[in-house]
Amino acid sequence: MKKNQGYLTCGTFVMSGIKGNLGLVRKEDCDVPVIPESLVTGQIFLFYQILSVLMSKVTVYSTQHCQYCRMAKAFLDKHGVPYESIDVGEDERAAEKMIALSGQRGVPVIVVDDEVIVGFDSQRLNELFGDTTTGDTYDVLIVGAGPAGLTAGVYCGRKMLRTVIISENIGGQALESWAIENYMGFRIIPGEDLMKKFEEQVRTLNIRLELDRVTGIVKDGDLFAAKTISDQVFKARAVIFAQGNKPKKLGVANEEQYLGRGLSICSTCDGPLYKGKKVAVVGGGNSALQTAVEMSQIAREVSLIVRHEIRADPVYVDLLKTKKNITVFPNAQITSLEGEKFLSSITFRGDSGKDQKLQLDGLFIEIGWLPNTDILDGFVALNEKKEIAVDCNGHTSVPGVFAAGDVTSVKSKQIIIAAGDGAKVALETFEYLVARSKD
Ligand SMILES: Cc1cc2nc3c(=O)[nH]c(=O)nc-3n(C[C@H](O)[C@H](O)[C@H](O)COP(=O)(O)OP(=O)(O)OC[C@H]3O[C@@H](n4cnc5c(N)ncnc54)[C@H](O)[C@@H]3O)c2cc1C
Repeated sequence: MKKNQGYLTCGTFVMSGIKGNLGLVRKEDCDVPVIPESLVTGQIFLFYQILSVLMSKVTVYSTQHCQYCRMAKAFLDKHGVPYESIDVGEDERAAEKMIALSGQRGVPVIVVDDEVIVGFDSQRLNELFGDTTTGDTYDVLIVGAGPAGLTAGVYCGRKMLRTVIISENIGGQALESWAIENYMGFRIIPGEDLMKKFEEQVRTLNIRLELDRVTGIVKDGDLFAAKTISDQVFKARAVIFAQGNKPKKLGVANEEQYLGRGLSICSTCDGPLYKGKKVAVVGGGNSALQTAVEMSQIAREVSLIVRHEIRADPVYVDLLKTKKNITVFPNAQITSLEGEKFLSSITFRGDSGKDQKLQLDGLFIEIGWLPNTDILDGFVALNEKKEIAVDCNGHTSVPGVFAAGDVTSVKSKQIIIAAGDGAKVALETFEYLVARSKD
């Protein structure tokens, strides 16, 4: 039995605490063991005492625009786990408490009784509160719930295909954009808001949406079988890969050690924790400039560390020039990260060829992305950049396997392109399944 499972009576009703999913059910409908009625007999005080023993105490430390925090809360909501939510972007004392508890300057931090879970650790949350339903067979299995996967999901759902989407988060990279100005129909919209609209549309259809990580996929007779990190297996007649990209690393010593301790790959999540502090952003593209501009409104001082020169759209370059508290260091390569528990300085080699030390409280990495194809292990053909090679209709080298969005060899990486390709491959998948059902 899982940690917070339990059953207790309450007057003429029975409280069912299965996986923390508290709800009132009629006693006669319930075939589970109950605590004798004499223990509680309507006494609310005693009821709460028993309840608190049976239920885990869950606290989620989060910030307002952190998508991983939203995922963690969505996971707990889906599994009916009550929790207290604390916004550490607003409450500085709570932020200090969270940093002391977790040793992290990054959100989310989830405290389950005495256990501190750092980040949105879907594997651990699934172990604590998830279910392990396996054995269902779907028409289509979609890996990834970014713009490509969610759009593919809507098209599959509307074609009445039995569809499961498995993704580590809902929204993908678009969640990390502070403001999107090139998605048709919206003059300007925060990435989080746009992705909420995508998610809402998916949820109107009969589609299973699983927060999990696919770790491998194999051909199993006529089906494809995907295994996840929480040990679930999902089978389907066709697959759509839409797992996008992941951020590149700096490639300097101790990088992992400082992640969440001054080093961040998610400025929209962790930015509010650096109010009035001194930060740096690494990178010279659109994302880096956008982050530097946004952080200039939160932090005291912002340094932009650019390896070569700025290669961003003029709109961001012009905006950067208007910010007085941003200093740009061109031709600068970070050579080391320093600090005891938390990152407190970086060293970079600048124009002169000499090493320069910069004291700071936080460093945001915005240096580009790598395709999430490490889970494929020879399953489909990749190109030289390790992207999934697709034809103009999203077919991969394996019949019945399709791909869309940033994970593919399609050159331009944009939300509207990923979404369009998601729609395209869903229609191709439908055609493939119809043809196969006639065989
Ligand atoms: C900071 C930033 C700003 C941007 N601004 C803009 C902009 O203004 N306009 C624009 O058009 N584009 C913008 N982009 C680019 C845009 O976000 C991407 O092109 C788009 O999100 C790609 O969509 P996708 O669905 O292909 O992949 P992604 O968005 O990367 O989604 C992939 C999904 O797959 C999941 N996943 C990965 N691996 C696995 C696995 N093994 N198992 C399960 N799930 C997995 C991920 O968690 C994610 O949910 C921006 C990107 C960033 C980072």
